[in-house]
Amino acid sequence: MFNFITNLLNINENEVEDLKVVSLPSETQFHITLFPTFPSCPYCGGTVQGLGHTKPKRINHPVLTDRKTSVYFRNNRYLCNDCGRTFSGKNPFTFSTFKNSIFLLDRVMKQLKNLNYTYLMIAQSNHISVTQVQLYFDSFINIPRISLPVSLGIDEIHSRMAKRKDASYLAVLVDNLNRSLIDVLPSRSKSELSRYFERIPLDERKQVRYVTIDMWLPYKEVCKKYLPNCIIAVDPFHVVKHLMEGFSRIRLNILNQCEYDSTTYYLLKTWKDLIEKDVFLDNEPVYNKRFGRKLNKRDLQEMILNISENLCLGFRLKEMYLHFNKEATPDNCEQWFDTIYEAFLSSGIHEFDSFITTMSNWKKEILNSFQHPYDDRKLSNALSENINGQLQTYIAISKGISNFVRFRKRVIFSLNSKVYYSITETLHSDKREGRSRISHKKQNT
Ligand SMILES: [Zn+2]
Repeated sequence: MFNFITNLLNINENEVEDLKVVSLPSETQFHITLFPTFPSCPYCGGTVQGLGHTKPKRINHPVLTDRKTSVYFRNNRYLCNDCGRTFSGKNPFTFSTFKNSIFLLDRVMKQLKNLNYTYLMIAQSNHISVTQVQLYFDSFINIPRISLPVSLGIDEIHSRMAKRKDASYLAVLVDNLNRSLIDVLPSRSKSELSRYFERIPLDERKQVRYVTIDMWLPYKEVCKKYLPNCIIAVDPFHVVKHLMEGFSRIRLNILNQCEYDSTTYYLLKTWKDLIEKDVFLDNEPVYNKRFGRKLNKRDLQEMILNISENLCLGFRLKEMYLHFNKEATPDNCEQWFDTIYEAFLSSGIHEFDSFITTMSNWKKEILNSFQHPYDDRKLSNALSENINGQLQTYIAISKGISNFVRFRKRVIFSLNSKVYYSITETLHSDKREGRSRISHKKQNT
């Protein structure tokens, strides 16, 4: 038992002079003193004599998951025989000014690495305040500027934290090969992106060979200007997303005109996945109440496509593009693309107007996406989606998050394995200027 406790406390049992465990309804307390070690004087190096113990100091040390645990540590005091000064012995649990053990700080930092935990969740699981968690986070992590990768992905994320009123997106920079987050900028504006790249030496910028972006013009302009050796490709995921928006509009325009509860309404509303998603169609027929007979998904899809010529043509065009997107190669993609472009153009479906403009404006970058010299094209899409998805989840669970500096630090810390933390005695807060600061003393109680 004794050994078990000294392990929990991370001290050697030979060092322990006295140890009492007190179990109260509210918490478990470890009252502890250690044998004096008689170190040499930290001021003059002289020999010392013991002066007894300090008053007990309470340290949060949450070693048990189901209840609050504290260490009450009475440190040794020493008197120097040479210079006459007094001082305390080594505190094995934490820094002399801290009320939480190093063990607790370390656990907090590990939890902060996981974006599924909010500051509140971490605070509660360690019996400390949110402000304290944030203070440790602000103090123990320094994000260096991470070098530009060979294959850079630029994406954006919608957020209230975006810098300007007219720009509601943050820019997200990822390493397509190492699958990590490089940086987050407070806006995706041309000036913000330029400012970011201007600070980076030209030699480093020349190393970037491949950039994937979505169809936001400033990305293209800035990459052309600052990354002289890069091939710019649009992320196929975004092109397909744009295509699907056009196609959905065809369906919705018909839906909005038909009578509620009509057969057309039923098909377009209930079974929209059969034309908008990749669904297995040849299932065993199932009895359909509405039609009074057994139908499989292919039967239903056929009924949907019979609703309107525009919808049917739009569906064929959409499938044509998806097939191209999946199968085209660097050698055949240009000719294939031109054929599809003509087909879209001559369809006369106005819901595709915006997509047709995209195809025309971004042809070069769409074709470049088939080059994928450094990575599997599908994998790199999955990556940017994955990082973006994690950022979105984090924004969603951290309701009301508004401190960009802290947000940026947290997500880079979590999504870049090269960023570490180091626990130090110096604390500082990234809390924004102009907002009331809560005294740190208060939270230590
Ligand atoms: Zn001394």
